[in-house]
Formats: sequence, C-alpha cells, structure tokens
Amino acid sequence: MDPATYRPTWAEINLKNLAYNFRLVKKLAGRGVKILVPVKADGYGHGLVAISERLQGLGVDYLGVASLDEGILLRRSGLTVPILVLSTVLADNIKPLLDYNLTQTVCTKELASKLNHEAKKRNILARVHIKVDTGMHRIGVAHKKAYSFIKAITKMGNIKIEGVFTHFPCADNNPCFTEGQIRLFNALIRRLEKSGIDIPLKHASNSSGVINYPEGYFNLVRPGLMIYGLSPSEGKPPEGGLRPKLRPLLSLKTKIIYLKTVPKGSGISYGHTYVTPQAMRIATLPIGYGDGYPRSLSNKARCLISGREAKIVGRVCMDQLMVDVTKIKKVKIGQEAVLIGRQKNKSIKVEQLAELAGTIPYEIVCNLGGRIRRIYKN
Ligand SMILES: *Cc1c(COP(=O)(O)O)cnc(C)c1O
Repeated sequence: MDPATYRPTWAEINLKNLAYNFRLVKKLAGRGVKILVPVKADGYGHGLVAISERLQGLGVDYLGVASLDEGILLRRSGLTVPILVLSTVLADNIKPLLDYNLTQTVCTKELASKLNHEAKKRNILARVHIKVDTGMHRIGVAHKKAYSFIKAITKMGNIKIEGVFTHFPCADNNPCFTEGQIRLFNALIRRLEKSGIDIPLKHASNSSGVINYPEGYFNLVRPGLMIYGLSPSEGKPPEGGLRPKLRPLLSLKTKIIYLKTVPKGSGISYGHTYVTPQAMRIATLPIGYGDGYPRSLSNKARCLISGREAKIVGRVCMDQLMVDVTKIKKVKIGQEAVLIGRQKNKSIKVEQLAELAGTIPYEIVCNLGGRIRRIYKN
C-alpha cells in the first residue's frame, strides 16, 4: 500500500460534475464557439492529468497551461488535444515547444523569430497565438502596436498564427472597462481582416467574461474556474449576467485522529488564541496550512461532523487543527470530517472559505497540497 494513504486526509474529485459543467458551458457558449479549458496549477488543484484526460474525452477543443513544463507533462501522459501555453517563455526554451507540439503565446518579436528559425530548421510550422494587451498590463503586445506586430509576424514563413487573444482583468466588476476592451479587440480584428490577414481563432473570455459578456465570446472562450464548478465573482457582479448552476467537483475530507475533553479555561493551539469558556470536547484533525488549508481560517471556519457544524478553535497548525465537538453526540476517533463539500443536508463551499480567509476561490483550490490524495469519482 502507498504509505501516503495512511494519512486519512483526501480530496474527492467528481468527474461527473466536470462533464456536467463542461456541457453546460458549451451550450451557453453556443454553436461555433470553441472551448479552451485552462488546466494550469495542477488543474486548479484538481489534478492536471486526470482533469485533462476527462476533458479530452469530452471533446474539449484546447487545453491551456501556464508553463512549458505543464504542457510537456500532458504530452508525456499521452494527451493529444491542442495545448496552448498561456504565458510567454524565455527564447532559449523554444525547442521543447516544437518537440512536444505545444502552441505558444507570443508577444515579442525575439521569441517569434527564434521560433521561426527553429521551425525552419525542422521544416515544420510553429503554431502561435498572439497575445494583445487591451488593459490587463501583464503580458501582451500593446493594442496600439498589435496590428504592425502581427503583420511583421505574418512574414515569417515557418510561423502559423492560429490565434489572437486578449484578457479581461475586471470582467466581474467593471462593465465600462471590459466593454472598452472588447471594442479595442474588435477594432484590431476588423483591421486585420480588412488587410487580408486571416487568423482562425479569436478569444478573450475567462469565466467572468463568459458569465457577463456574450459579446466577448468571439469564436473561442477560456473558462477555467467555472468548469471546476466554482464562481469567480468578487463582490457584486454586474447586472444581467448569466447565472449558470454549476456543480463543484472538489470535496475535502479527513478523519478525527484524536479526541478529548478539556476543562474550562484551557488555551487551544499555538498562542492560545482560543480559551475554552467552559469544559469542552475537542477533536483533532490531520490537516493544516502545510496542506494549503489557510491559517487565516483559525477561529473562523467550520467543518462538518455527523452532519453538524464544528467550529475551528485556536490556530490552524502546519499539519493539524482542532475543532469544537462539544454539542455533537457520539463523536468517535476515525469519524469523517468534511472541510469542503456536503455532509447530510449541510455543505461548505470553497467560495465561503475564500471569503472567510480574505482570498478568492482560486487560491483555496490551487493551494491544496501534494500531501492530500486526490480520489476520482466517475
Ligand atoms: C487562467 C486563465 C483563464 C481562466 O480564468 P478563469 O477566471 O479561471 O476562468 C483565462 N485566460 C487566461 C489567459 C488565463 O491565464
């Protein structure tokens, strides 16, 4: 038996819900709109290869990765679907792009010409998508320079410009800015078309874009978080957006490993930030910030035991945390505790934990560490 399995802390990943969300988003995007699903950061913590394999089976058009390494891992695992490296790479690292048939995001002439050169040597075409900056200011050719940049790259004989794309920084809270970005991107596309430059794929929308701006779909969308069944909006989303009923994939579970009663006035965990107001029954769970369960949830979050809520008391430690089970009957060592997901008729959502921790759902799932086994349910 794999020794890692002796620690009773695991994440269940429901792949049926992945299929459900994917089909829902596909229907929402409509005919003629392709889907690229980002699987970066280990598939948002859900498992890069398992998630990618299922998406390939579901007919996803493209996968998106953050780095060459993630793309290489997918190819070595046998995935054949097109893969776009969403970020840029250093120009020294272009060989593996071609070795592994990865599509590269390009926003510098240096990278384009090195890719062109290497592709020429191999007598192949290097597929690229041009990233245009319309206001994110992360990577991308400034939109004012994009037309001449793209025109210059069309002259490179061994580069195939398969796509052009941009990114929305505020699609969940700033309609005015996002609509402005869509206008700029449209203007660029029209100018390219007018001068006979035909780029097959045009894309802009992340999950918030998909939810709030159908006019920003172009012919490919890039929903990440919503495919994992999580909701991206921070604060109040714009009026009139779609509210698709998505199903989360991930549950986080563990088992009680220790149980005790402590007298009134007992300080719990590091710093004694919690002191028992009366005699209390305290359970210890084998999960902590070393697993990515945020320390900022100390004295804030709850978990579910016997279908009841048990509050975290004291600080979350690296590998363990304590919960109050005083009011829950018949609690035993070995009993299951749910930190994310459903138990009986109660549930704890990633979005709720994110809010309590002062972060976003993305960070909660991405941070779930390698010590947490992923168990896939079909
Ligand atoms: C991660 C990423 C996305 C997906 O964003 P979500 O908010 O998870 O939908 C889309 N586009 C790019 C370029 C990304 O890096």
